[in-house]
Amino acid sequence: MTDNIQDLLSWDRTLVWHAFTQMAEYEPFVIERAEGCVLVDIDGNEYIDGVSSLWCNIHGHRHPRIDAAVREQLDLVAHVTNLGASNPTTIRLAKRLVDIAPPGLKHVFFSDDGATSVEVAVKMAFQYWRQCPDPPSPPAPLPKGEGSCCGTTAGDKNCFVALGEAYHGDTIGSVSVGGVERFHAMFRPLLFETLRVPAPDSYRTPPNVAPDELCRHHLAELEKVLAEHHRRIAGLVIEPLVQGAAGMIMHPRGYLHGVRELTRKYDVLLIADEVAVGFGRTGKMFACEHEEVVPDLLCLAKGLTGGYLPMAATLATDEIWNAFQGDYSEGKAFYHGHTYGGNPLGAAAALATLDVFEQERTLEKMPAKIARLEEHLARIARLSHVGDVRRRGLIAAVELVQDAATKEPYPWTEKRGQRVCDFALTQGVWLRPLGNVIVIMPPLAITLEQLDKIMEAVEKGIPAATA
Ligand code: PLP
Repeated sequence: MTDNIQDLLSWDRTLVWHAFTQMAEYEPFVIERAEGCVLVDIDGNEYIDGVSSLWCNIHGHRHPRIDAAVREQLDLVAHVTNLGASNPTTIRLAKRLVDIAPPGLKHVFFSDDGATSVEVAVKMAFQYWRQCPDPPSPPAPLPKGEGSCCGTTAGDKNCFVALGEAYHGDTIGSVSVGGVERFHAMFRPLLFETLRVPAPDSYRTPPNVAPDELCRHHLAELEKVLAEHHRRIAGLVIEPLVQGAAGMIMHPRGYLHGVRELTRKYDVLLIADEVAVGFGRTGKMFACEHEEVVPDLLCLAKGLTGGYLPMAATLATDEIWNAFQGDYSEGKAFYHGHTYGGNPLGAAAALATLDVFEQERTLEKMPAKIARLEEHLARIARLSHVGDVRRRGLIAAVELVQDAATKEPYPWTEKRGQRVCDFALTQGVWLRPLGNVIVIMPPLAITLEQLDKIMEAVEKGIPAATA
C-alpha cells in the first residue's frame, strides 16, 4: 500500500476513532518516533513528552535496556496464555513484584490495562466474601421499607465505597466505582451502585481549613458510611494520595493511613488503585509507602512496563488467595481472564523497567527534579488566572480560573486548559489537560533542562490562553 502524509492524516480523521476525543473536531497529532523524552511527529517536529504518553512512560522512549529485553523475548516466544499455562518471564515478574510491593501482597493476577486491574480487584473482593472461611456475622434485618445499598439482601457484601470524582478506568465495573460526572453520567443505568464519600480536596475547601482538619473531617464522614453499611460493603477503592483524572486532587497527609485503619476496623477490603501513581511518580515506588499502608488488593498498570506494552497486575494478600483455594468441584477458582494477561513481551518490558530503576537509581535522582518543578510552580502560582498549583512527587497540576480571588472556574466548554496545551505545542512541548487543569507529569527520566522547557511553555501559555 502506498500512502503519503495526507492520506494518513485523512484516515486518522475519518477511520480511527480516538479515545476521549470529539472526532468532529479532531486535529491529527501523529507521532512517528521518539527518543528519550522527545516525541517526533510525522513532519519531523520534536516535542518534549510532558505527560509521559498519558502517565505511563517512566524511563523515556526507546530505552536501550527495555528495547533489548523485548527483542530478546521475541526470540523466545511472543505470547503464552496464562489460562492454566505460564512462561519464565512472567513468573520472574510476579516474583519481582511481590519482592518490591508493600509487604504481605504475595500473589499476582495479571491482566492487560489499568481498568482491568481494577475490574479484577472488584470481582476478587466480591468473590472473596462469598468464600472466606470466617465471613462477618449476618446483620439484623433492615427495617421495613429501607432498601440495602445495592438492592440486595442485607448480609451480602455486594457494595463498594469509592471517592467522589474517582477514576478507575472505563470498563463497566471500574466505571461503577468511578465518579467523574462528565465521563460517567451517561452510563449510570448500566452500573452497580457504589456508596460515595467526598474526596478530601483541599483546593475546594475554605482556606481557613487546615489539612489536618480536612483529613479528620473526611475520615469522620467515611466512618459514618462504614459504620452504617459495613456489613454490605465488600471493598473500598481509592487512588492513593492523588486522584488523577479528577484534576490531580491531592489528599491531605494521613488520609490514606486513616482509610486503612477504618477499613480494617469495619471488615472492608482496601483496594489501592496505583495505576497512575505507582512506579515512582510520587517519589517512592508505590504511593502507599508514603503512609506505610498495605492494601488488601493493589492495582498496577501504566508504568509497569515503563509505558511500553499493555500489561496490568492485581496483587493480593494470602488471606484473599487462600479463600480461592479448594477442590475443583467446589468452584472456588477465580473465573476471570484476558487473552493477553501476563503476556511475556509485556513482562520482559516490565522486568527491564525494574532493572533500569536500579541501574539508573531513578528514585534517588528525583528530589532534584522535584525541587526544580517546585521552583517553577511557585512562579506560576503568582500568575493571574491561576487558582491553584499542586504537586506530589513529579506529578503537578495548575488550575486555571476566571478570577484567582474567588476561584471562579472557567466554563469547561471554553477549553482554557487545552488552549494552554495548544500553545505549548508551538513551543515544542506536548501536554494534555484535564479540563481547566494543566497536568505536568513527565517521564521520571526527564532532564532538568527539559523540565525547564515544559514549565516555561506553561508559564507563557497561561497568559496567552486567558487573555
Ligand atoms: N486507574 C487510574 C487511577 C487511572 O488514572 C487510569 C487511567 O488513567 C486507570 C485506572 C485506567 O487505566 P487504563 O487506561 O490503562 O485502563
